Amino acid sequence: MRLEESLIKIKHVTEDTIRGEAAEVDKQAKWPQHSIQNLQQEGLAGLVVPAQFGGLGHGLSGLAKACEIIGQVSASTALCFGMHCVGSAVIAAKPTKAQQKQFLEPIAAGEHITTLALSEPGTGAHFYYPQTQLLPVSEDRFLVKGKKTFVTSGGYADSYVVTTAGVDPDAAMHQFSCVVLEKNAQGLEWGPAWEGIGMRGNSSRSVTLNNIAVSTSYLLGEMGDQLWYIFHVVAPYFLTSMAGTYLGIAQAAFDEAKKHLMQRSYSHNGLSLNQIPLLQHRLGMIWAKLERTRQLVYHAAAEGDKGEETALLAILSAKAEVAHCAVDVVNEAMTLAGGIGYRENSRFDVLLRDARAAHVMSPTTDLLYTWVGRAVLEQPLLND
Ligand SMILES: Cc1cc2nc3c(=O)[nH]c(=O)nc-3n(C[C@H](O)[C@H](O)[C@H](O)COP(=O)(O)OP(=O)(O)OC[C@H]3O[C@@H](n4cnc5c(N)ncnc54)[C@H](O)[C@@H]3O)c2cc1C
Repeated sequence: MRLEESLIKIKHVTEDTIRGEAAEVDKQAKWPQHSIQNLQQEGLAGLVVPAQFGGLGHGLSGLAKACEIIGQVSASTALCFGMHCVGSAVIAAKPTKAQQKQFLEPIAAGEHITTLALSEPGTGAHFYYPQTQLLPVSEDRFLVKGKKTFVTSGGYADSYVVTTAGVDPDAAMHQFSCVVLEKNAQGLEWGPAWEGIGMRGNSSRSVTLNNIAVSTSYLLGEMGDQLWYIFHVVAPYFLTSMAGTYLGIAQAAFDEAKKHLMQRSYSHNGLSLNQIPLLQHRLGMIWAKLERTRQLVYHAAAEGDKGEETALLAILSAKAEVAHCAVDVVNEAMTLAGGIGYRENSRFDVLLRDARAAHVMSPTTDLLYTWVGRAVLEQPLLND
């Protein structure tokens, strides 16, 4: 399926199912089961899985646009679908024959949802320094021991791509490994649901990994493989899925503001809000912000898909810029929508709460700009 066809299908699923489930997802902090199932049924779950493994192979560009479409209606759903795609991309980067059969083919067939478990309580925003241990206990077995926090789709995914420290105690901190744990692995102990003010439906939970025995065949790539180095595989997909999602939030806020300006008129002078120069100017300002940020996201994703050396800086900047864009556009759009926009349960109620997560979801905005600055200054990105 060509990317354009896939995006049309995603728009249909968004209108047919995601929109209907969105309010419940937010209000009741409900994982978007029907929406994810419909995406699977429509053959979209292998969005970033390469065609050679049965997927659609739409890469970073497809991921950005898919999350943007879904994010306009339900950012929580976009995050769950996005994290599934990120996990899929990590598995697909260097799969063994067995991993292709066990994970990638079922993902592409719409029978398996995965996700990425990176963050830990100890290292917080510095998720690229996992302390979860991967301990070899025999020729063909490891024990996985540690704790992960904020696992999207926690308790609902069929598998979890878990980052761990390299086994070698002298390994550099970033030489981590990735291993896949299945949902029924003995020793997975889920914490209670995290009650966020926004992004409430993504079932973001902590999980303790109590000496989970796992076959060495579940290791992705080689032990401590540089392939998994955060800036080469994990970050581009992770950041792009978030950039698309938060772009969707900004677009939705813009659309609400425009609707209000088009519909509202005054009885005392018959003037429509869309005829007032200051409001025209303010709407123009947020359109420009949204459009230049969208172009940066698309450009960054396209560069990443082409494997350009300049892609990384664009991808890092894109997520940081989107975070500002989403928060700013929602704020401005709320002002344009007047008192109606400030109502509880208005569309802005959800958009404002959801948008605010953009800055704190790692890599956080501050870390991203710091990395961009270091790269420009020809310094290594990580030194803390
Ligand atoms: C809705 C939501 C969904 C999430 N989903 C996932 C998921 O699916 N998988 C996953 O692994 N994680 C996920 N996360 C976790 C997210 O990435 C964490 O919130 C993040 O790692 C921040 O960790 P922390 O709360 O411990 O912040 P802290 O580490 O306490 O950081 C606090 C602040 O300090 C800043 N800071 C820290 N060190 C520096 C420094 N050296 N320079 C500049 N600033 C610094 C940070 O940028 C941040 O702003 C999710 C979080 C949220 C809110």
